[in-house]
Amino acid sequence: MSKNKSSESVKVVVRCRPLNRKEESNGPAGCIVQMDLRLGQVILRNPRAPTSEPQKTFTFDAVYDANSKQGDLYDESVRPLIDSVLAGFNGTIFAYGQTGTGKTYTMQGAWLDPEKRGVIPNAFDHIFTHISRSQSDRQYLVRASYLEIYLEEVLDLLDPNHGNARALELRESPESGVYVPDLKSRVCKSIKEIEEAMNEGNQARAVAATDMNEHSSRSHALFMITVECSQPGPDGRKHIRVGRLNLVDLAGSERQAKSGVQGERLKEAAKINLSLSALGNVISALADGRSGHVPYRDSKLTRLLQDSLGGNAKTVMVATLGPAPQHYEETLTTLRYANRAKNIQNQPRVNEDPKDAQLREFQKEIARLRAQLHHRKWSKQKKEQVDGEGWERDGDEETEGEEDEEEGVEKEAEDYVKLEERLEREKQDIREDQFMLADEKQRLLGEKEMMMGVLRKEQEATEQLTAKYKAMESKLLVGGKNIIDHTNEQQKMLEVKRHEIAEQTRSEREIQQQMLVRDEETVELRETFTSLQQEVDAKTKKLKKLYAKLQCIKAEIQDVNDEHVRSRQELEQTQNELTRELKFKYLIIENFIPPEEKNKIMNRLTFDPEEDQWKFQPLVPAESKSSQMKKRPASAVGYKRPISQHARVAVAMGAHSRYRAENIMFLELDMTPPNSASLDRSAEPNLSHSLDNSPTKDRGVRKSRSWCQTPKSITSSSSNVSLAACHTATPMTAQ
Ligand code: ADP
Ligand code: MG
Repeated sequence: MSKNKSSESVKVVVRCRPLNRKEESNGPAGCIVQMDLRLGQVILRNPRAPTSEPQKTFTFDAVYDANSKQGDLYDESVRPLIDSVLAGFNGTIFAYGQTGTGKTYTMQGAWLDPEKRGVIPNAFDHIFTHISRSQSDRQYLVRASYLEIYLEEVLDLLDPNHGNARALELRESPESGVYVPDLKSRVCKSIKEIEEAMNEGNQARAVAATDMNEHSSRSHALFMITVECSQPGPDGRKHIRVGRLNLVDLAGSERQAKSGVQGERLKEAAKINLSLSALGNVISALADGRSGHVPYRDSKLTRLLQDSLGGNAKTVMVATLGPAPQHYEETLTTLRYANRAKNIQNQPRVNEDPKDAQLREFQKEIARLRAQLHHRKWSKQKKEQVDGEGWERDGDEETEGEEDEEEGVEKEAEDYVKLEERLEREKQDIREDQFMLADEKQRLLGEKEMMMGVLRKEQEATEQLTAKYKAMESKLLVGGKNIIDHTNEQQKMLEVKRHEIAEQTRSEREIQQQMLVRDEETVELRETFTSLQQEVDAKTKKLKKLYAKLQCIKAEIQDVNDEHVRSRQELEQTQNELTRELKFKYLIIENFIPPEEKNKIMNRLTFDPEEDQWKFQPLVPAESKSSQMKKRPASAVGYKRPISQHARVAVAMGAHSRYRAENIMFLELDMTPPNSASLDRSAEPNLSHSLDNSPTKDRGVRKSRSWCQTPKSITSSSSNVSLAACHTATPMTAQ
């Protein structure tokens, strides 16, 4: 099952966007973020601190400044991850940062401008180009799903019913980790199809304007691509590798006061902040490594990212920053989380031949349909041979292999047309034959007509089967076949060179970072002093350095404390909001819902910790359903109970004590006729007649009564007859 089981840390890259117009005109000039691209360092300046205070430096796997291009970020930091997904690993890329810092820009970008296309469209290109250039013995199945987490509910963005659809549940299995069982997945055969799926989902996504971003995402969006690849292994059997790619665009973290939101937006913001702080807690717990418990279950977002953070996945986190001085605190928080995330260790492994691979199902279905088609063709040929009515075929009889499948199908259609024409000709001949008797002509024409009918039906069935087969087969992409790669050799060379350069830049940066660390460690060891003064100087320098470090750490502690205070204040604010809402709901419940109804509801509620939700218990517990169900009444009042054939015969033969109990009609009844009815009837004979004809309950009662008086009149086993007998006896009883 697993291969290459080794651990690797989450890759963290940081990107800073340019100042926007509002920030340029608003705040004091200048950016607070500086970047050293060569070393992968971010240097943050506190705009309110004195200039003597040392600046904060953070080191990451890569950093991208305001002038960085989308393509650079992709080639250096994302391309290796997508290559891993194509090799069967799970991969996740998520953008993390304050609202309006460029998460959506980084993940999606401007689709129409090739220079500004983000990670997601570039990943689409990458995946389908890879398939188009791979060897022809590989088969691929690419599926896409798109979901959002809005107000802590998981919603399917590809569901046409998105607006009214109910929230989806999360499940966990040892094989595929945390997954969403009812999430729709769409088979995509080209870049165009997967882009359509993405656009459709984007239209349905919850977006609203806040003060900080005109199109702020109010939900976390997760676009999932599953690439299944089947390839013959050394053992000659086809092996399937499944790579899952999660592309996550998080909703932004924001201070409620800053984003200027109210009402529904505030509720959204509270949920977003809660799930982001849950994400922060998960990152802290994982980075810490000491705490055994990782609070994945605190939010839907952390549950969905469970495999990506500390599990079976390769993960890239893009932390986005704004350079404006007014967002210093948020920028620092983002950098801190990003810095912590670097320490998270994942255990990625190749998903080989998993049980839930859809590609295998598809291959089986295609093989079944192909076998059916072949069988059809074969049995037709056999029939023709038996009938001795084979018609001339041009070319080979058998079409072998998948390549000739299409030709074979076309030939099939041609053959049907030929046979139909021949039957038509034969019919014409029969009609024109003057020596044949009319009866004989009619018979032969009928026969031919029947043959044509059978032929047409067969043709229809074959066409349907062929269409189904083609539709299934077209879902699978064959390496280097279905998608045509339009890039010429020169462009390909250029691409290869670009990737090489990106690779080189990355490894250079890694070496630089390692050198920097080593320099710091060894420079002091190598120092030798020629005079005492020199030693004093060197040690003073060292002391100053260490003192600066101490100051840095002290400032860090102060910052962390401030941050804690701030987040506590925010949590309190959220709590106040929620308490106010709770009081409002209580008020309604206490004043408008009767206490007994409330108790009934309360007794039926149970908390499901798995889904973090209150649920209603069914009214009747499942196990005692049968015992508590009311029994069906044995017979409706006034109607005889259905009795067995044997009992009926026994009744007809004479009273047998055993069957007496079967019919209450045999019991002693009070035979006094009802007064009012008899009076009415005797007074108004017409009315009595009309009553007799009307199909009412009254009539039924009288029927039974009379039936019990004349048990001997039943001679037939049919209930119709017994009813008829009752009917004839009715007037007698009434009189
Ligand atoms: P977020 O998703 O983090 O809330 P957006 O991606 O919507 O933020 O970005 C907010 C605005 O900033 C958008 O208008 C976007 O075009 C712009 N922007 C973000 N990053 C960059 C960048 N690197 N270069 C140019 N413009 C950017
Ligand atoms: Mg966004």
